[in-house]
Amino acid sequence: MKKSTRIDRIPPYIFAVIDKKKAEAQAKGIDVVDLGIGDPDLPTPKFIVDKMVEAVQNPANHDYPPYQGTKDYRTAVARWYKKRFGVTLDPENEVISLIGSKEGIVHSFLSFLDPGDVALLPDPGYPAYQTGVLIAGGEPYKLNVDEANNYEPDLDGIPADILAKSKMLFLNYPGNPTGTLARDAFLEKAIKWAKTNDVLICMDLAYSEVYFDADDKPRSILEFEGAMDICIEFHSLSKTFNMTGWRVGMAVGNAEAIQILGKIKTNVDSGVFKAIQETAIHALDNDQPFIQEQNDLLKVRRNIIVDGLNEQGWNLDYPRATYYIWAPIPAGYTSQEFTIFMLETAGILVVPGTGYGENGEGYFRISITTPNERLEEAIRRMKTHNIRFETTKTALA
Ligand SMILES: *Cc1c(COP(=O)(O)O)cnc(C)c1O
Repeated sequence: MKKSTRIDRIPPYIFAVIDKKKAEAQAKGIDVVDLGIGDPDLPTPKFIVDKMVEAVQNPANHDYPPYQGTKDYRTAVARWYKKRFGVTLDPENEVISLIGSKEGIVHSFLSFLDPGDVALLPDPGYPAYQTGVLIAGGEPYKLNVDEANNYEPDLDGIPADILAKSKMLFLNYPGNPTGTLARDAFLEKAIKWAKTNDVLICMDLAYSEVYFDADDKPRSILEFEGAMDICIEFHSLSKTFNMTGWRVGMAVGNAEAIQILGKIKTNVDSGVFKAIQETAIHALDNDQPFIQEQNDLLKVRRNIIVDGLNEQGWNLDYPRATYYIWAPIPAGYTSQEFTIFMLETAGILVVPGTGYGENGEGYFRISITTPNERLEEAIRRMKTHNIRFETTKTALA
């Protein structure tokens, strides 16, 4: 069969590979504690499901939705942005519905890149950025984000020839996989840099509602001066309301950029099921106290893992947001080797840092989207097998 060259440029999806490893371990009779994918284990809250049951019965919701989202949905997104971030959005021009933010993210590269154009991406970072660039025929250029640079890419260090070809910069705070928040000073600087260099900033705000302390409430980049000129932001209800399967999100920000993204989308998809949009409005208008309760519960889980790893010799700070604990691996292993070792020795599934880019080498990611008992079981098993941070590969072999 003759296929496109773009297919060969796309690496296998990390979680497809991990699912296979998990199935192999389970086939050997291992009870796997899955700390892999960041998909909420908890159900969508009842107030949202009940609304859907009602909305789905209305025949007026059964036809093709408007491409850009219903007016009511776009207005509700604008209302939520005002309430949550103090950001004013024009629902006519500055909001578009998405079939989950991943859809909008991948389509953004088709909207803004020609073959050979560069998109600047955080490394480690969410894998869909890189594959989206490759599908569009663009060139990903990775910017290191790590503890040493406060998880903020060095924008001034980008080589001039790369910068000349760059059309987009992706940022993701709170960040997957590192769990980090943006500092205001960095966002201000990035906006100025983007305007000077005419590079569109695409902020991935998927985790804005997953945070653990009132002081750490994440901000929208659109709160900052000048952002509306050069930024769009991707968001969705997936992580906020345990609605990953529902596929509903939004892109908001600069009107011209939203219109360009809309042009691709109009020709590819036909929008979000209207019953889901009606339900999403209800969720956005009634987000409290659900978000607070959810975060209190996630904080307990976060502490189980971080305290447990620290008892085993790690020296981790508590991540301030997201579902993720990003931890260094014991000396002597590659990320991949350590992941396989954890699975085969203790039946614990974690993700190798390299799944998020080359700079993830030396790290692994734990997701807390699993009940407390299973997280406690993972720590218990690490103790049983004496898996400690200072245990080197040779000592364990
Ligand atoms: C989960 C996730 C998304 C995509 O979520 P959708 O369900 O497509 O809205 C986007 N970015 C990051 C960083 C994520 O972790």
